[in-house]
Amino acid sequence: MKEFASLTDNEMEALADTGGLPAEVADHMIENVVGGYTYPLGIAMNFRINGKDYLVPFALEEPSVVAAASNAAKMARVNGGFTVTNTGPIMIGQIQVINVLKPDTVRAKLLARKGDLLKKANEQDPMLVSLGGGAKDLIVKKLSTLKGPMVIVELIVNTGDAMGANAVNTMAEALTPMVEEITGGRVLLRIISNLADRRLVKATAVFDKETIGGEDVVDGIVYAYAFADADPYRCATHNKGIMNGVVAVGIACGQDIRALEAGAHSYASRSGRYKPLTTWEKNRDGDLVGTLEMPMAVGLVGGAAKTHPTARANIKILGVKTAIELAEVMGAVGLAQNFAALRALASEGIQRGHMKLHSRNVAISAGATGAIVDIVAKKMIEEKKIRFDRAKELVAELSKGKKP
Ligand code: NAD
Repeated sequence: MKEFASLTDNEMEALADTGGLPAEVADHMIENVVGGYTYPLGIAMNFRINGKDYLVPFALEEPSVVAAASNAAKMARVNGGFTVTNTGPIMIGQIQVINVLKPDTVRAKLLARKGDLLKKANEQDPMLVSLGGGAKDLIVKKLSTLKGPMVIVELIVNTGDAMGANAVNTMAEALTPMVEEITGGRVLLRIISNLADRRLVKATAVFDKETIGGEDVVDGIVYAYAFADADPYRCATHNKGIMNGVVAVGIACGQDIRALEAGAHSYASRSGRYKPLTTWEKNRDGDLVGTLEMPMAVGLVGGAAKTHPTARANIKILGVKTAIELAEVMGAVGLAQNFAALRALASEGIQRGHMKLHSRNVAISAGATGAIVDIVAKKMIEEKKIRFDRAKELVAELSKGKKP
């Protein structure tokens, strides 16, 4: 690899550094491991969720996200913080049946054997069942597809404190012989669905109009929401802002963030049109009411949440005791992040705050090191010129100045 990519010794050293993750653990987590990759870890402050205070760990590379979340949470505290509810840790496992001659008859036959199918599924995970989880229901749907009619069996599984993909996939695979025998068809795919629309969190907060800058700001945010609701180009960025927080907490706590992203965006499109995951409206007092509703498939057992020491420490900082509680915190974070972005966009614009915090990154990319980073950043903020070309000039001047 070193030869192939002409890597220097310094670059090799940077790659080999696995940070808080012991190299042998990393080696067991994925394949072909050559080292580690570290994100900055920041703590978002001021979060009060369902009457409890939290310190929320964020792992991400983007400046201003932690500051924005902390600021939004501070404003939400004025009216008691965030209220979050959830629909329980319910995931869906899909079994695809092809070569089905009479889909309606097959559907009826499968439903008649529901009890046997659920029993077989639950035999795969006595641990989960003993904790009150397991396969709870079974749905059969007919699809008309490019390759003709298909029957899809959906297992509805309570995955407890697990994200549940392995648990659900194991159950779905175990049902293959029984489903083939009942249907006379052929079972092909057996896999969890990331459109986790039975595992939703709903977060709400009421932002006091004076605290957030007056009724103009309230109106501005409602207009911003209306724009996202009407236009997928805007809506993609609206939802991206929500995911800034959700994904950062997800990484910090060892979650499968691909699953979170897939769930979020497929849920946003469930009406056939891509829509915002939040709604914003003005109440009778003129205050701003925000609501977020999205799937949140997270777990505290299994995956990196258990194996990554930093993830374990972060879960301890967060102090969540169940997967549901983690999901609720992440829902509140998503709402806070969206509020912060919309408030900035609907008032002074996003760049003022963002670029100030970004100025140090610009200085570093222009070659600044040590104390010079902050000097260059400060100068660019003063000059209102947070640009790579200006940073380069400043670095050159300061480095020259330093020379005897
Ligand atoms: P897992 O199999 O490691 O852990 C789940 C198991 O832990 C359960 O089956 C149960 O037997 C046991 N358990 C112990 N205590 C429990 C408790 N309190 N609550 C629930 N279960 C408990 O992990 P998982 O959560 O089934 O799978 C998650 C992993 O699957 C993630 O790493 C994810 O990246 C990966 N994955 C995701 C997808 C996808 O999203 N499409 C597909 C395949 C794999």
